Amino acid sequence: MGAIRMGAIRMARVHVRDAEGRDLSPSSREKAERLVAEGQAEWVSQDPPTIRLHRSIPLPERPAPKTHPLDEKKVLLHVCCAPCATFTAQYLREQGADVTGFWYNPNIHPYSEHERRRETLREYAEQITLPVIWEPGYDMPAFLQAVCGHEQQGERCLICYRMRLARAARVAAERGFDAFTTTLLISPYQDLDAIERIGHELAEAYGIIFYFENLRRGFAEHHQMAREHDLYRQHYCGCIYSEWEAQDREATTRRPRNDSPTQEPSPGA
Ligand code: SF4
Repeated sequence: MGAIRMGAIRMARVHVRDAEGRDLSPSSREKAERLVAEGQAEWVSQDPPTIRLHRSIPLPERPAPKTHPLDEKKVLLHVCCAPCATFTAQYLREQGADVTGFWYNPNIHPYSEHERRRETLREYAEQITLPVIWEPGYDMPAFLQAVCGHEQQGERCLICYRMRLARAARVAAERGFDAFTTTLLISPYQDLDAIERIGHELAEAYGIIFYFENLRRGFAEHHQMAREHDLYRQHYCGCIYSEWEAQDREATTRRPRNDSPTQEPSPGA
């Protein structure tokens, strides 16, 4: 029994500390005894077996824990509608961002729809204690003038993105935000490559960060969250053209099959 005990002790790994007392990787007893015999270390304990080296060992720096680029940043979140703000605002807050919503959507048609979506955001923002900066008025004439001659779906959307994001970038820069971004990034119907490019162009122009991330993975969850909060959910993207295209699409699905469709689906919320 005593022999087994002694054998177990001899087999035990030896704790190793450096000259500053920092724990290093354990060593075999043979190696520990060799280091002591060579005068490189001394025994400081036999139970548990521990040696202390006579020199310090440079240890690799521990990598700093990774933080999200928006951690502790003031972020202005352009909000296209309350349902798209659900997942997006929650996600940005979870990354440590101090989020403020921003309403500017002159594309939305008609005025009653614009007001309904704005009111829905106001109610939702209250529920989640989200501060919101509201651009006053209804810039619909400016939107229609901007897209005049570029009404084709896709082409007009680039103008629409730029118009809304430019206002967000300007307000973010004027009010001391660190970055701006948009809830459009959650939608599988929007052109994210174009939004990323336009956002970065505007960021450079206004000297502020545009935060881009493909958030489409949250699209299913955003529907669920919108239902849970009983939010109004629209059936078209926003502009008069997208409303017409959505209606036409519905009519097309009701038509007999030999009546060929004339419109591509438009981006929708
Ligand atoms: S479809 Fe949507 S993104 Fe495109 S112009 Fe109309 S409102 Fe803007």
